[in-house]
Amino acid sequence: MPKKQTANVRTNPGAGGSTRKKHSRMVVQRKNTTIPISVFGNVMKQFDAAAAKMHIDPHLLDFIKVPRRSTIVNLPVRMDDGGYRMFTAYRVQHSIARGPAKGGIRFHPDVTLDEVQALASWMTWKCAVVNIPFGGAKGGIICDPQELSDGELERLTRRYVGDMVDLFGPDQDIPAPDVGSGPQVMAWFMDTYSMRENHPVPGTVTGKPINLGGSLGRNEATGRGVMIATREAARHLKLDLSQATAAVQGFGNVGSISARLLHELGVRFTYVSDVTGAVHSPEGIDIPKLILHVEKTKSVLGFPGVRKVEPGEVLHASVDILVPAALENQVTQENAHQVRCRILAEGANGPVTPEADKILKKNGVFVIPDILCNAGGVTVSYFEWVQNRIGYFWSEDEVNRRLEEKMISAFHDVLNVAIKNKTTMRIGAFMLAIARVVDVVKLRGIYS
Ligand code: GLU
Repeated sequence: MPKKQTANVRTNPGAGGSTRKKHSRMVVQRKNTTIPISVFGNVMKQFDAAAAKMHIDPHLLDFIKVPRRSTIVNLPVRMDDGGYRMFTAYRVQHSIARGPAKGGIRFHPDVTLDEVQALASWMTWKCAVVNIPFGGAKGGIICDPQELSDGELERLTRRYVGDMVDLFGPDQDIPAPDVGSGPQVMAWFMDTYSMRENHPVPGTVTGKPINLGGSLGRNEATGRGVMIATREAARHLKLDLSQATAAVQGFGNVGSISARLLHELGVRFTYVSDVTGAVHSPEGIDIPKLILHVEKTKSVLGFPGVRKVEPGEVLHASVDILVPAALENQVTQENAHQVRCRILAEGANGPVTPEADKILKKNGVFVIPDILCNAGGVTVSYFEWVQNRIGYFWSEDEVNRRLEEKMISAFHDVLNVAIKNKTTMRIGAFMLAIARVVDVVKLRGIYS
């Protein structure tokens, strides 16, 4: 990839699914130099590895792999002390081939353009894998939402929408929550956009509060999708989930909900970590009780009956299932040799680097790639958008039934491509997604 894009790379943050004050930076150490891992570079490598197995015009590949539009804005925001502070923010629309651009907005101190471009690309491939009519986008704001008051967060959100309002809209680009943002931020987004249009436009954003046009089941959709994908993988590998052990890295929305749903299937979680630390119990941790403890104390630490361990131990735990549900670049060529699970279910986006992927493949780890594994969130975002457009709302059972259907068929579509091409699930997922995007690009033709 060009040097320009690697110049501004985001180095790897520490574990933990939610934004907190502490975030250590991780880099790959080489002999005399320290090279940060480019997340967008990782997506390019994944794309190239899949494209190499396909017979597609290279010019067409060049067209679909790079982001269509990257916008950078510097936002002045009035702070509670009466002063103003500048915040740098991004919106990247990677693809609008299959439908409006779709993807969340991340609020995190380590956000970079490199990261947002990577996340936007993954959204394109993710939407294509689950076959929903969206392209891919992502937004990011460099900030620590934990340090902002509700008023400051609201003004920052409104200014973000205001500065880029022309990009957004239910037929253009539809944001959603990501790390550090949630339903309240989406409500402010919807209100600001609607004020500009002079009428309510619920379909301009997904992941909204239920009373504002949100969908039942959206909040737990990503975790539910991780559970479904893991269950299908276990079936394929003939692993009995009622006898299985697991570890989860990150205990935010995705980590805690996937752990709870897998726990309900009988999986015994022996390791859990969040940004504050990690805990272990060989007998298995009571996940519903741990969720209540974290709601109260904001930490997995101090939970009765568990032992505190080093956060790194979670990734190296001797378990059947590992769910990295924090941030990118957690399993790298430095530590992939120590990963001992049978199934690695990517709850986070980009937790495994391409170099680590090769090591995991050699060691027989079955990786369920992010663009399949965590696609439940955007799938229910699609359902929310559909419900907003028809103005009629489905029951939670209906949403969950449709999500099941989408995730199961996506899992088997990917598995079939992987088996047919004697490759990994990641490359299979990319091959499937690239083929679907290329198909519409060919039908539409290139306007030039
Ligand atoms: N931020 C989520 C993701 O990475 C959801 C995006 C959406 O619903 O648009 O998949």
